[in-house]
Amino acid sequence: MRWKVGRRSDNVVDVRGSGGGGRRGGGLGGGGLGLGGIAIVVVISLILGKNPLEMLGLVDQMQGGGGGAVQQQEGHAPPAGDETAEFVGVILGETEDAWGPIFQASGRNYQQPKLVLFSGGVDTACGGASSASGPFYCPGDQQVYIDLSFFEEMKARLGGGGDFAYAYVIAHEVGHHVQTLLGVSAKVNEARQRGQDVQGDGGLLVRQELQADCYAGVWANVAQAKHQWLEDGDVEEAMNTASAIGDDRLQKQSQGRVVPDAFSHGTSVQRVRWFRAGFESGDPNRCDTFAAKSL
Ligand SMILES: [Zn+2]
Repeated sequence: MRWKVGRRSDNVVDVRGSGGGGRRGGGLGGGGLGLGGIAIVVVISLILGKNPLEMLGLVDQMQGGGGGAVQQQEGHAPPAGDETAEFVGVILGETEDAWGPIFQASGRNYQQPKLVLFSGGVDTACGGASSASGPFYCPGDQQVYIDLSFFEEMKARLGGGGDFAYAYVIAHEVGHHVQTLLGVSAKVNEARQRGQDVQGDGGLLVRQELQADCYAGVWANVAQAKHQWLEDGDVEEAMNTASAIGDDRLQKQSQGRVVPDAFSHGTSVQRVRWFRAGFESGDPNRCDTFAAKSL
């Protein structure tokens, strides 16, 4: 992937080395997950045989939905010459350039999210998080959070290295931001609060995750049409990643069998299918996973 031809976003906030920093007023008032909560989630996910990274990815969708002003992370721009940070900035910039016009075409305004680079731990409007969380999106402050060590983790453990695969992960999190702006996340939350079972195979949470995959595909289509920047093997790389982080695959790896009731992100086949639906069409209207009879 010739990513250097892309436009770098100004919305990357670097808080690495600040050790989680001071807590911002109000952000954690009531319902924040906190480090103790993170530890509990990790234990629960081990019991369920789920990857804690994914489980926490699920949890971040549940938290911080409360109203109030969006608080922005204090930090600085990444230092010049930091290639990985530059890469993240370019992918974020290209998601801005893709989603801005798409929103405009339907008379909406795309509010660009900040992307926070952290190391070790970070406080968010959704509670505290550690590197073990993996990349996540917090609807409460509308920010994407990434500890860059996750990319090493992907390469080593999840069988999915490569720049386009990393780009897919970032675009998936931005997809959750798109869902927040479009009110999709709020609807799923309301259903959950009404007591509807949103988990499991075919549940609303899986549909929400698969839609974020589809949105990542839409982004990949738009950016490719503009830059022709993909190289041989890039698409396979992203598909391998989508496949490697399917719930069924993760469950098999951790406990040797598949438990559909615990699905939250979709199976490998579903994740690949929905990424492809977005990538081949470039049309977010093809991403209505909520209406789809079969996923
Ligand atoms: Zn997700």
